Amino acid sequence: MRMQIALPTATSEQRSLLEMDLAQLADYLTTLGQPGFRARQVWEWIYKRFAGDFAAMTNLPKELRARLEAEATIAPLRLVTEIVSRDRDTVKALFQLHDGQTIEAVLMLYDERRTLCISSQAGCAMGCTFCATAQGGLARNLTPGEIVAQVLYFARYLADPSLPPMTAVTRPTTVTNIVLMGMGEPLHNYANVWTALRRLTDADAFGLGARHITLSTVGLAPGIDRMADEELQIGLAVSLHAPNDELRTQLVPVNKGYPIDEVLAAVRRYIAKTNRRVTFEYALMAGINDTPALAQELAAKLQGLLCHVNLIPLNPIPDSKYQPTSDADAARFAQILRDAGIPTTVRLRRGIEINAGCGQLRRAVSKTT
Ligand code: SAH
Repeated sequence: MRMQIALPTATSEQRSLLEMDLAQLADYLTTLGQPGFRARQVWEWIYKRFAGDFAAMTNLPKELRARLEAEATIAPLRLVTEIVSRDRDTVKALFQLHDGQTIEAVLMLYDERRTLCISSQAGCAMGCTFCATAQGGLARNLTPGEIVAQVLYFARYLADPSLPPMTAVTRPTTVTNIVLMGMGEPLHNYANVWTALRRLTDADAFGLGARHITLSTVGLAPGIDRMADEELQIGLAVSLHAPNDELRTQLVPVNKGYPIDEVLAAVRRYIAKTNRRVTFEYALMAGINDTPALAQELAAKLQGLLCHVNLIPLNPIPDSKYQPTSDADAARFAQILRDAGIPTTVRLRRGIEINAGCGQLRRAVSKTT
């Protein structure tokens, strides 16, 4: 099932207003001869009322709307395809950027939460051997506006009363949680990601609580240290996938540069500074990293850390030697961790039939077009 929300396509010549903070927007509108209060009006249309285009901004003078339409944009993403899962609780969108690059975002509807998974880069340079995004390498960093636009797209989607309810539960009308677990390594695009996070948490802009946002990293230790010093209380998730360097380097090659003990030392410093519980992600692959011995080794490594382990049954990707662990083996792995006092959950597989694993939709589409 597909749904399309028509958005005007951005071109590279247009000024993207999503790249501007409020002061920059005010400067720009001043150059168009507009009074001082205009910037806040436009700002509210973008971040509070989720306008999809300038035509919707009905309290702006007609000539200004036409001028903005011609030379500016608030829509840097063009929807290429959108897929809704059979249970109608997961929506995956593939977007094209003005230079032809494509990125993905996934909305997951739960009873109380509407969690949006967004991308931070077009492609990824980290090279994890089980990940679909890694296979294409890094194309480029996303700009702050391109990161924010993914959220605004789904905010608009959820708020639009003309769209049918997605699930039996009360129609969700807002994005309540954001995870930076889409394409890319967010700490490899640090400045742009944090500019976007400030916009998303700014009470005058999108205004989501920082504690409702989680950033997932492959484990770039210096970035974790930098994050610990930020004022914003963004949650941290670290993709571990193995308890020792030999195995982790096979799965996550950047482990050569930042071995496990260095990553965990950075996580310890982060916890000491922030007092926030850290999530470790561990994608279970049959016969590779799912044995009881490795569960015990992992439990020993994480002993005493304020943490939580999220076990993710692998989303199998084409042409890969890795297969998902069986449910029974996943349960056994989880139990060993719990018995050792490590809080552990096995993540539900969402959207597997809609290629909702990282980088999978982009790959499926580029193979068929
Ligand atoms: N670069 C960040 C965010 C990327 S993806 C990071 O590494 O954390 C978010 C999570 O999905 C990571 O834990 C990543 O390792 C995991 N992942 C990637 N491909 C997967 C697959 N095929 N199956 C299950 N998890 C996968």
